[in-house]
Amino acid sequence: MNIKNIIYYDYLEIKSLYKIELPSLFSLIANSNSYSDFSTGLQTLIKEKDYLDSKYRSLISELISYNSKSIYELSSQEKIKIETLSYLYNFIKNEDIDRSVSKDLYIDLFFLFLPLEKKLIHKEKSLKLDTFINRWDSGLDENIQDKREENKKRIINLLIEKIEKRKDLSSKYQFEDSLSHNEKYIKVEKWWENYRFHLSMAIKSPNELNKFLGFSLSKEIMDTLSLAKKKNMPFFYTPYYLSLICVDNSFDDYSLRSYVLYSSELIETYGNIKAWEREDIIEEGKPNAAGWLLPEGGNIHRRYPEVAILIPDTRGRACGGLCASCQRMYDFQSSRLNFNLSNLAPKESWDKKLHSLMNYFENDTQIRDILLTGGDALMSKNKTLKNILDSIYRMAKRKHLANINREDGEKYAEIKRVRLGSRLLAYLPMRIDDELIEILKEFREKSLKIGIEQFVIQTHFQTPLEITPKAKESIEKILAIGWRITNQLVYNVAVSRKGHNIKLRQELNSLGVLPYYTFSVKGFKENYAVYSPISRSAQEKNEEKVLGQISQEKSIQLLKSLRGKPNIKEILNDFLNKENIPFLASDRNVLNIPAIGKSMTFRVIGISKYGQRILEFEHDSTRNHSPIIDDIKHVYIRENKSIAEYLRQLDSLKEDISQYASIWYYTEEETEKCFGVFQYPGYNFNTTKRISNFQETIPN
Ligand code: SF4
Repeated sequence: MNIKNIIYYDYLEIKSLYKIELPSLFSLIANSNSYSDFSTGLQTLIKEKDYLDSKYRSLISELISYNSKSIYELSSQEKIKIETLSYLYNFIKNEDIDRSVSKDLYIDLFFLFLPLEKKLIHKEKSLKLDTFINRWDSGLDENIQDKREENKKRIINLLIEKIEKRKDLSSKYQFEDSLSHNEKYIKVEKWWENYRFHLSMAIKSPNELNKFLGFSLSKEIMDTLSLAKKKNMPFFYTPYYLSLICVDNSFDDYSLRSYVLYSSELIETYGNIKAWEREDIIEEGKPNAAGWLLPEGGNIHRRYPEVAILIPDTRGRACGGLCASCQRMYDFQSSRLNFNLSNLAPKESWDKKLHSLMNYFENDTQIRDILLTGGDALMSKNKTLKNILDSIYRMAKRKHLANINREDGEKYAEIKRVRLGSRLLAYLPMRIDDELIEILKEFREKSLKIGIEQFVIQTHFQTPLEITPKAKESIEKILAIGWRITNQLVYNVAVSRKGHNIKLRQELNSLGVLPYYTFSVKGFKENYAVYSPISRSAQEKNEEKVLGQISQEKSIQLLKSLRGKPNIKEILNDFLNKENIPFLASDRNVLNIPAIGKSMTFRVIGISKYGQRILEFEHDSTRNHSPIIDDIKHVYIRENKSIAEYLRQLDSLKEDISQYASIWYYTEEETEKCFGVFQYPGYNFNTTKRISNFQETIPN
């Protein structure tokens, strides 16, 4: 049976496939007088086939029991009627074909019903792991470095042209009249090492982008990007990041391109994008979707009791580039996040506001973790960042001292972890300059004395191609001062190709970086082109990532050996060698679900008429949630794309899709436990159970 052929079959070919390969199901439908007969017959059929396991029986039972029921789909907030098996019944039974129902629905069901005939496609670990990994290039490979040197030369010449034509004479990046081309080149080469130069020279239009990419963008892409320009979508590419992109097809850079070039669905939807995370919608005086009461102004976002996100009113509301599947595209659309760097300088009122935001953290009984993000936390200037970190330090100290006068069991959670969320290690690693390192070092040294123990740069490398010698140098500088680096990526189509995520984990581990989350793309229409189904993430977890898994005991052992040590790279690599594992599976594959948070606990309950799976999710029971979330039992999410369409996409990228054959059978999954290294350190006292800043009932 050739999957590659089946995903391109037309309706009649699919129908005859059912007849040949699934005779019991086909004759059951053919001989049933009604859908009700069919569903009763199907229940009997799965009972008779004693070789079917309980999970499979329960999958089919769910498809039967949800058929004709309506569910509330959380991301679109629509009521959806599930008619999966009714569509199948009508398709097989009737001569006339209802072409409004996608054939991808029947293809998915075909694979799901194969086990009825003992025709199983096995799930197995990728034993040929090396073959899969070795096909992916790293930015540290010599041939890739050579290509990038060529790119850099080409881009520097274009930058010289750009500076010469610049009308803005206030810019500090100017040439004196007397300079020769060679002297200008040397000057730009020196400026290249300074991140401010890249921000100042950022490329902001499709035509300029094409020019800087050696006119390698097709007419189709250019037409699409022109539409984006007309819709005022922001464009922001640093010369450094563009130098990573391949312009002569000498290596596969799809993971880079597809992450920064906008798809037609994204452009079409831009202007009407909704917030995926409902808890990000903050209305004054009202609790958010997770029940948290938050200060006005939208600077604090919160989903869980222990942690809150701080988004400052600074340049931190910008990024080093716009990721095409940005989780905050909604905020770029409203210009709350933007690339007008000069307008984002903090206003005088910011200091006062920062003070009152700190009061929120100080007076909260449960928060122990602050994630400073944006946008991008490191887009803020050093002085601004130092000011924020100093405020956090003073607040944490006050919170620590206030506990002295509280009874045991009444004490508030003290700040234990401070994180800075930044993708600049990938977009613009020059940002990690000596002054920033000094600020981070000083903050850590004094904060350790008041009980903060974990200092983390939470970064985002999407592909090993982003790990360049410059990024490596920045990683080394950060690790040397005792800050940790964790990585989270967006599991889009490009990086979902077999072995890609393993290669990234390996490269990160070799530098001392710990993978933290592999996030599925959020399922809104704007992400259609880049969406990779949840079952692919589950497949990756079980067939690829599994090769880097260690026991809970070993994880605790590793945690102990890492505690307080700056040489994480050496400790980690010794550990991998000793355990003889190719990488550390420290990240969790999850979807960020509106309102209920990160989870991978799901089961398939239906397939829409467009072939997308409908999943019933539960929240991650291994972590603390707001009491509201604990009361929510199930959440329903309709995926964005059918599995057949995803496989056709992989096929167009020249993937051997027979290697993905078991994808259909990832119909349920459990959220992984949080890796030991990422657990919060404990207290030597008991904190209060009282939850503050929380409102039990959400007003209508
Ligand atoms: S760096 Fe983060 S916030 Fe900025 S565009 Fe990318 S995903 Fe969005």
